[in-house]
Amino acid sequence: MFKSGFVTIIGKPNSGKSTLLNRIIGSKVAITSPKRNTTRNRIRGIYNTDDYQIIFQDTPGFLKSKSSLDEMMLSRIKESLKGVDVILYLIPFWQTIDEAYLERVGAIGKGTKKILLLTKVDKADTKEEVLKKLLWAQDQKIFDSVIPVSARKDINIDSLMKEIKESMEEGEAMYDREQITDMSDNLYVAEIIREKLLFNLRDEVPHGVFVKVERMELEDSKLLIDAEIIIDRDSTKGIVIGKGGLMLKKIGTESRKDLEEYFDEKIFLNLFVKVRKNWQNKDSIIREV
Ligand code: GDP
Ligand code: MG
Repeated sequence: MFKSGFVTIIGKPNSGKSTLLNRIIGSKVAITSPKRNTTRNRIRGIYNTDDYQIIFQDTPGFLKSKSSLDEMMLSRIKESLKGVDVILYLIPFWQTIDEAYLERVGAIGKGTKKILLLTKVDKADTKEEVLKKLLWAQDQKIFDSVIPVSARKDINIDSLMKEIKESMEEGEAMYDREQITDMSDNLYVAEIIREKLLFNLRDEVPHGVFVKVERMELEDSKLLIDAEIIIDRDSTKGIVIGKGGLMLKKIGTESRKDLEEYFDEKIFLNLFVKVRKNWQNKDSIIREV
């Protein structure tokens, strides 16, 4: 009997959503970063086995309002959770969970399994600190289960998957069973390059940078990719290119490595840096992305 279903991943920026998604799918479908808000696009990761297809959605900015729960908020939450079988709430194990948050989670109602994940437990000095939080969370009686995990060190990911599978119902595969993400190849390439930019340049380059893939062609079993890195200031151009072009070269090399693994092809990657003033305000450019 084939089973399928939907899982939504919820948590503040930096709680480890993308890292968990990548760990579960076993490949890099979402970009991760120590900086906040790297997930600009909603990304679905598709977990496939012989018996299951489970679709995971990394949801940025969900449940973020500080105000207490009102009707509007509640109906919006419920609307966005239609058809979801499991919700994963991520919070680094050392952070506190406030009342308003618990209230919102509690309002979501039955029929959707709620699992609280205490993330990054590889960072704990002692087991006791994690255990204390675990017991506290279980006491709230809001979550169907509480699991301490580390996506980085692969701790308890198996138990988590077991729990998730228990909530899946008989149903057909919604995506091709070879597919691991609903992102287009172009968008995937752009996201990988953007990830390398953010990692290497940290605070020197603002989030006002986007990457656009201009060409992607398979030729003699080589994948040729031309991509533009578009920034909004002349002053950033030198930083992205680096001394003697070294930074751009590094970004290119790191991107190529990930892309070769993902596409399983030899990659030829050309990166171009372009300045387009105020692109963030220009609708037409954004629509092209
Ligand atoms: P998101 O914003 O919720 O998607 O969080 P990310 O997955 O991008 O992770 C934010 C930061 O936390 C990154 O620097 C990750 O490498 C780090 N991180 C994520 N999961 C773990 C983990 O299990 N252990 C540790 N030590 N760090 C993690
Ligand atoms: Mg993320």
